[in-house]
This record gives sequence, C-alpha cells and structure tokens, in this order.
Amino acid sequence: MAEGRIIKALSGFYYVKSGEDIYQCRGRGVFRNKKITPLVGDFVRFDINEPNEGYIMEIMERENELIRPPIANIDQAIIVNSATKPDFSSVLLDRFLVLIEAKDIKPVIFITKMDTIEDLNNEDIESYKKNYEQIGYQVELLSAKDPDSMPVLDNYFKDNVTVFAGQSGVGKSSLLNALKPSLLLKTGEISESLGRGKHTTRHVELMQVGGGLVADTPGFSALDFSEIDPEQLSDCFPEMRSISEFCKFRGCKHYKEPKCAVKQAVSDGEITAYRYEHYVSFLEEIQSRKPRY
Ligand code: GDP
Ligand code: ZN
Repeated sequence: MAEGRIIKALSGFYYVKSGEDIYQCRGRGVFRNKKITPLVGDFVRFDINEPNEGYIMEIMERENELIRPPIANIDQAIIVNSATKPDFSSVLLDRFLVLIEAKDIKPVIFITKMDTIEDLNNEDIESYKKNYEQIGYQVELLSAKDPDSMPVLDNYFKDNVTVFAGQSGVGKSSLLNALKPSLLLKTGEISESLGRGKHTTRHVELMQVGGGLVADTPGFSALDFSEIDPEQLSDCFPEMRSISEFCKFRGCKHYKEPKCAVKQAVSDGEITAYRYEHYVSFLEEIQSRKPRY
C-alpha cells in the first residue's frame, strides 16, 4: 500500500500527494462506519488501482484537527493582525490565541502593514511585541510592501502546514501574494464576497507556498468560545498555565477565589494587566452562556 497526504478535497475526491505524484482517491465505505471522514492534511494509506487513482484505506492518527476550515495535522496557525487599517486590537488577538491554544495548535503572531505607521509612532506595537514574546510567542512585524519581509514569511512556511487566521482586511492575501505572485489571491473588498462563496463550495486545499503548505481558507471564521469550558480557559494563557498550580484552590478560575497565584502575579506585574482583563471578560462570556443551577 502507498502512503501520502491529502492536500485537497473536492466533490467526493481526495487528492493524495505521495512523493511528487498526486493521486485522485475515493474514501472506502469503512470510514463511514467509524464516524471518521478523511480530512485535508490527513496522512493516509491508499491502494493504487489506476495509474493516478486509488482508494484510501486507512487514516493515520491525527495530531490535531480544525472544523473551520476542515484540516488535520496543522503545524501552526499564523494570526495576522494589521498595525493600522484596521487598528491593532489586542483583545481580538487574544481571542484568536485562545481559540488556537484550545485546539493544541501552535500560534504565531504576525503584525503587518507596518509601512503604514511612522517609526516614532511605533512604540505601542513594539511593546506589544515584547510582551507576547515574553509570554513565549513568536512575533513578526511585516509589510506586504517590504521585500525584506518575504524571507521571514518563507522561513515560517518552510516544511510546515500553516493556517492563516485573522479578521478580514488585515492583509492575509496580500502577504501570500507578495511571497508567491502566481497565487493571484483576490485582495481588498472583493475578497470578502469571494471568500464567502468559496466556503460554501466546501473546497479545501493546501497550497504550496514557500516550501510548505498553507490552507487557502482563513481559519476560525467563528470567533465564539462555544467549545471552550471555563476550567480550560486559563490553560489557553501560557503565562497563567505555568503558575496556576500555586493557587490555593484546585480548579481555581483566578476570578473571585482568594489566595490565587495568578491574581498575585498580576499585582506583581508578572502578568500584564490587560491580558488578565481579557481573561476575565472571556471567562464571563463563557460562564454567561452556561446555565447555572
Ligand atoms: P485579507 O482580507 O486579510 O486577505 O486582506 P487583504 O490582503 O485583502 O488586504 C486588505 C487591504 O489592505 C487591501 O486594500 C490591501 O492592499 C491592503 N494591504 C494589505 N497588506 C498591506 C501592507 O502591508 N501595507 C499596506 N499599506 N497595505 C496593505
Ligand atoms: Zn488562581
């Protein structure tokens, strides 16, 4: 049996890349019984029955998977934020970070459109960069108009499966186009209507960009926390995760509990106040959703 990776799903066919060849495959009925359907990104074993056709027989265990877009085994999610137009929003970034952390995917932070701010005005962005780096995230300041940004992008894509996340208009397509002009991704306002049309066709594809694979559909179109439990939330903040074992109460939610190590770290300045404020507002959002008896 051959082995490969699904790089595209379209009209009931799975396109499996094995070495340099692509095989058009169907899934065997056996998956339906097991309630598992092949996903783009899956590593599979398949039988070749025609020169470039086959049947998927087995799906290897997944490291992680996303529902929107439906992709498995993602190495990283790059959260794209713009410095301006729209203005950088730390609360939106934290929302994306939580959603990605909750899926066990490694987040990377990009802040693009850096050409739109004056150097002197740059302190805000630089201090955010420092803060997120201190937490342990990789942060890159970029511009689709700056050729120096391209090797940086390239380096992240190389040998990885990447999902590009971020609200519409922050410059995701522009970065990908700048790195690989042949992609011809639509940018600006047009891309929004096209983007939606694309989702409804349920066509998912991993594009080859800069020595790696990138999902062609932006991830995390739904930004609600419907799949996150209140107990799980602080695990999605790495700087809280590492100290919550020192809280007096097991299962401390770092909210109204006394002797909380997280709240102490906030007063000591070890955890940035705005990150904790975002945590509290997310927690309240999640708890208000749950019926309490
Ligand atoms: P997407 O919706 O995230 O894919 O965003 P687009 O790539 O479509 O970009 C939205 C708008 O921002 C377009 O008008 C782009 O020309 C503009 N834009 C994107 N990146 C940059 C950049 O680095 N610098 C500047 N000045 N404008 C940019
Ligand atoms: Zn606590």
